[in-house]
Amino acid sequence: MNHWLIDQLQLGLQLVDQPDLIRGAVEHCSLEDPYRDSRPERRISPTLISEDCRLSRLKRYRRHDPQPGWKWRSVKQGRPSASSAMHTLRGTFAEGMAVTALRATGMQILGVSPTCVFEAEEFSNAVYGEDMRELEINWLGYPDVVFLNEGRVELIQMKCPSVYAITRYRRDGPASLERRYGPQAMAEMHIGRLLGMPIERNHILIFAFEGTLPGSEEAKAGQELHAIVHTVEWADGMAQFCRRVAEEILEDDVAADQGTWPTAYAADNANKWPCSYCNYPRVDQGDQVTCEEVTKWEPNSPLAGRPETPSLLAPSSPTTAPAMAVPTTPSPPEPSLAPLARLQLPPLPPSK
Ligand code: SF4
Repeated sequence: MNHWLIDQLQLGLQLVDQPDLIRGAVEHCSLEDPYRDSRPERRISPTLISEDCRLSRLKRYRRHDPQPGWKWRSVKQGRPSASSAMHTLRGTFAEGMAVTALRATGMQILGVSPTCVFEAEEFSNAVYGEDMRELEINWLGYPDVVFLNEGRVELIQMKCPSVYAITRYRRDGPASLERRYGPQAMAEMHIGRLLGMPIERNHILIFAFEGTLPGSEEAKAGQELHAIVHTVEWADGMAQFCRRVAEEILEDDVAADQGTWPTAYAADNANKWPCSYCNYPRVDQGDQVTCEEVTKWEPNSPLAGRPETPSLLAPSSPTTAPAMAVPTTPSPPEPSLAPLARLQLPPLPPSK
């Protein structure tokens, strides 16, 4: 039996004819957060909470471009990426199509990304040596869909990967979805709750742009869509989890100001997850600044100008030359995951 949200999406796609569906999706694709440029630069977003690499997480928090001074959105390993361009467009267009379809079913949608913004402040205490400091966590999230379900505020996080990824998620079960998308789903709920909305669930709705084959068992059972839903229910410990990861980012930020950055993955991880899909290059592929050469992004850093660095990143000194690479320890997910043991799992391959 389908999840009700898949049935709703399927119904909506049957209710809205093609020209209106395209119009709705195109309108969605052109939405923008009108205040994006006026918001403070450093914010903790739900996607940062789900970031596997601690170095990449900090660089994104500190707004490092893919290469120093070079801005580009569809990027992989510090270069323009055709596949990233396609996947981003697929995801955005799919969101617009699904929102248009869900609205047509009468669903009470209160807001959609990026015009619906969850922005909240939270204060927490962190220990630095013998000092206790109050940290201000500035949260900023763009939940894909905020809607009312029988009077309760709930969220939808939409993903539109390949049909192969969906087959893999079906095979590996809900734990694989929770590992990959659970932290982001939790953080979105957490920010909403800080804003006073008692959000109890976030539905991760994943669907492909391919339908099931006519005559297949799925089609005979009335399933036209390759889609799955995994619902993350709010639970004790989730707020603590989100706060702990945010604190870790802020602690890393303070340490970076003093010249200590998280350790990069080993250079021979360059073509493996997560480095293979990272915005930054792990190794120089020709005229590139590698992810750990942080002073190139931050010329005023206390490390800049020190001739003896390569050892920017304690404790070891990874090199950018793959053949000479000293294996370094991947950024550990650390104690932040402690409250939720079921999330203490290694990162999955990407879902492209
Ligand atoms: S390339 Fe790898 S080590 Fe470097 S920031 Fe990205 S994920 Fe981290």
